[in-house]
Amino acid sequence: MEKTIQTTTELNNGVEIPYLGLGTWQARGSTCKEVVAFALTHGYSMIDTAQAYGNESRIGQGWKASGRKREDIFLTTKIRNSNQGYQSSQRSFQQSLENLQTDYVDLLLIHWPDIGDFDRTIETWQAMIEMQNEGLCRSIGLSNFTIPLIERLLEYAKVVPVVNQVEFHTFLYQKELLEFCREKDVQIEAYSPIARARYLENDTLQKITKKYDKTAAQIMLAWCVNHNIVVIPKSVHEGRIQENANIFFDLDDEDMRALDQLGPQRRLVTSLDQPPSW
Ligand code: NAP
Repeated sequence: MEKTIQTTTELNNGVEIPYLGLGTWQARGSTCKEVVAFALTHGYSMIDTAQAYGNESRIGQGWKASGRKREDIFLTTKIRNSNQGYQSSQRSFQQSLENLQTDYVDLLLIHWPDIGDFDRTIETWQAMIEMQNEGLCRSIGLSNFTIPLIERLLEYAKVVPVVNQVEFHTFLYQKELLEFCREKDVQIEAYSPIARARYLENDTLQKITKKYDKTAAQIMLAWCVNHNIVVIPKSVHEGRIQENANIFFDLDDEDMRALDQLGPQRRLVTSLDQPPSW
């Protein structure tokens, strides 16, 4: 059955997550508030933010301005690295809730694993489990975790993360990670799903756009959705926000295969905390 903008997928704890959300990294000030309100009144139900983006208050203002009921939208935020650890993750999350003008989020993520001090990341996870039990977050998950790091967390964790939010797009098909996460019932959520618009002119992509009468950004997003991956494209332009929502169509097997093999593979996001092999 073809998906629509309303289609959700069930996470391993029974919570439903929409396939499409609005990314908000570098969305700032009143523009951020306005685009969040715009997206939520034009079919989007999910907003992705993070403590590190410095815009949680604007997201709070934006969803309020949209007039949508809190229970009808899905808010994600992330514990930033400097706030990891048992107490500081709990304390900082209270501030996030205040900024977001809500008493719970739908999804709380660890933004980056602390490679140098993984015990700190385990502590953060423990604090998140407790906050989930208290009803402060409906689901908890990870971001930027590799297979070995997920395995390491699962050695200690009593709760399996619902999501791993990672860079994922046609120029970075992380098939092994996708398959591993599927096996563990961890949903992949694609960030930078249009590769920050850097390769939209790619020949194969352009050829496929003509066949479906869609833009390259739409083809890249549809490729993710056809792989049952959640996407959170970011834009601060109303036209693009609408364009990025028109992605619920089937790509045929031949085009999926061609997009699976788009090269060369490129990773856009790295962290200084990560080892070179990241
Ligand atoms: P992206 O969504 O792949 O691309 C965003 C860029 O593409 C912006 O410069 C945007 O410009 C432009 N754009 C958007 N739609 C377009 C279209 N239809 N045609 C042409 N250009 C378009 O990259 P991203 O912002 O890195 O990733 C999306 C979201 O994922 C972030 O905003 C953030 O919420 C999340 N994220 C998470 C992590 C993490 O560590 N967990 C890391 C990176 C990102 P305009 O805004 O000017 O339209």
